[in-house]
Amino acid sequence: MKDKIIGIITKVSGPLIVAKNMQDVQMYDVVKVSEKGLIGEVIELRGDRASIQVYEETAGIGPGEPVYSTGEALSVELGPGLMESIFDGIQRPLAVIYESSGDRIPLGIDLPRLDREKKWEFKPVAKAGDKVEAGDVLGTVQETSVVEHKIMVPYGVKGEVLEVKSGSFKVSDVVAKIKTEAGIKELTMIQKWPVRRGRPYKNKLAPEDPMITGQRVIDTLFPIAIGGTAAIPGPFGSGKTVVQHQLAKWADADIIVYIGCGERGNEMTDVLNEFPNLQDPKTGEVLMKRTVLIANTSNMPVAAREASIYTGITIAEYYRDMGYRVAIMADSTSRWAEALREMSGRLEEMPGEEGYPAYLASRLAEFYERAGIVNCLGSDGRLGAISAIGAVSPPGGDTSEPVSQATLRIVKVFWSLSSSLAYARHFPAIDWLRSYSLYEDDLRDSFNKNHSPWSNQVIETKQILQEEAELDEIVRLVGIDSLDFKDRLTLECARSIREDFLHQNAFHEVDTYTSLGKQYYMLKVILDWYHKAQDALKENASFSEMTTLPVLEKIGRFKYVKEEDVQKTYEEIQKDLNNEFNKLTKGGDF
Ligand code: ADP
Ligand code: MG
Repeated sequence: MKDKIIGIITKVSGPLIVAKNMQDVQMYDVVKVSEKGLIGEVIELRGDRASIQVYEETAGIGPGEPVYSTGEALSVELGPGLMESIFDGIQRPLAVIYESSGDRIPLGIDLPRLDREKKWEFKPVAKAGDKVEAGDVLGTVQETSVVEHKIMVPYGVKGEVLEVKSGSFKVSDVVAKIKTEAGIKELTMIQKWPVRRGRPYKNKLAPEDPMITGQRVIDTLFPIAIGGTAAIPGPFGSGKTVVQHQLAKWADADIIVYIGCGERGNEMTDVLNEFPNLQDPKTGEVLMKRTVLIANTSNMPVAAREASIYTGITIAEYYRDMGYRVAIMADSTSRWAEALREMSGRLEEMPGEEGYPAYLASRLAEFYERAGIVNCLGSDGRLGAISAIGAVSPPGGDTSEPVSQATLRIVKVFWSLSSSLAYARHFPAIDWLRSYSLYEDDLRDSFNKNHSPWSNQVIETKQILQEEAELDEIVRLVGIDSLDFKDRLTLECARSIREDFLHQNAFHEVDTYTSLGKQYYMLKVILDWYHKAQDALKENASFSEMTTLPVLEKIGRFKYVKEEDVQKTYEEIQKDLNNEFNKLTKGGDF
């Protein structure tokens, strides 16, 4: 099919091109610009004039050159081969392009999004005679060693199965035929979907289960739900990327979609080296086996960055529709917002706060609102979920800026990274006084069911940390001597909570992940010590002795205890706590 000429370029402004004669195109249609065939998307229409955001370098393009219509909205191809792929913001296969062309992507390159040559072993699930509707599974493909891909009836198709094949096929081969009201429909393993529209589902459910991450400060203090949304604001170097990587590795999710809008990464080689080298602790393989990576290096045109989060979330929805729990991470949405700002500036729109367009908040919302836990299409009643986590990198770490503020109003969890904690090497540098999770109420039952009284511990822990902040203020003004032993004990307990519990080294083989059960016991022994010490104080026991008991060292090392030894260690610590406090209060006679 030859694209038809429709428009003539009248103006070129960096990644923005204006063309006339465009009355036949629609918003968000993809066009090819000039004989070079640069890929662009219509983002504004006024009369016969269209503003086109171009996803490639426009240097050398000028007024008078043609614009060709494709008549299609910016879409992604969905099918086997997504896993392990590295795409750019408009789903061009970067790794493939890099192999042939290196760092510079050739202009107008139009490779198929999914590999057209590779063959997949298609195993039928449906059979001739079955009545099927959108979302029903026709067959499966083992996409990687860890992901089973479900080939589903696409949206809008309903009818009776005439044939389902079995065997080895390319993605574009016909694998099933369906008799619909509109005639016989031949289905391949590829679906297409416009990125700016959410994929349909039956209904959204309220989140009620936590997405366990193994990161103590997250799971215990500020948990995210499966199907939830979270933001990680923090200045450069505060640990946003490490947190995102930890979540990608450890979070309770089947599929990872990772969108990198690099702050540092300037070169394709960085992109190809960093994330793809992560190991998957759950499968023992590389994490890429269940990941789709979307990468924008800072030398790629900004427009592709703008599209990347929609490309990413559409792919996430597709795996959600198969019944998987997907986690999508965007690192960082600030780079994305800057792209939006640049395009808006070139469109000469009325700037809002700090030059960002007035629709910044609604665009961010359009991304996060596509997260959630849903009843998928299809008659088997499966559930699927997308949890979305975006990093935000406000300039200077000041979260009063527009991107942080807009994000804060949308997401339900806020993990605020602090530069002073990072500077003090307290990682993850999640500021316990400024962070919050609005899922706490929804998740309480789930936590308490297995680890009672989980929420009492959490409430007390937060109180102690809050008290510490207030006491610190007093100490700063009038010195530690002004505090009585009761308050000094609170400070000791808060220190233990911070150092022995909240601090967690992502690069230590045991400390990197903590099960919920271990988190519960770790916190419990700290609080048990605190309660015993409070009682002992009432009996006039020595403050310096109770804060230097040998058991405290065991409590401090609990984080390094392997999961299989947790129960035993917990019991030992309990015994020591009892013995040592007995000695303390009975003067050592027993
Ligand atoms: P950002 O993405 O916010 O710029 P990074 O995630 O790259 O910051 O983190 C910067 C550095 O901080 C890392 O290279 C690492 O040395 C340290 N760091 C961050 N988080 C942790 C953690 N949980 N455990 C240990 N070190 C960490
Ligand atoms: Mg980073």
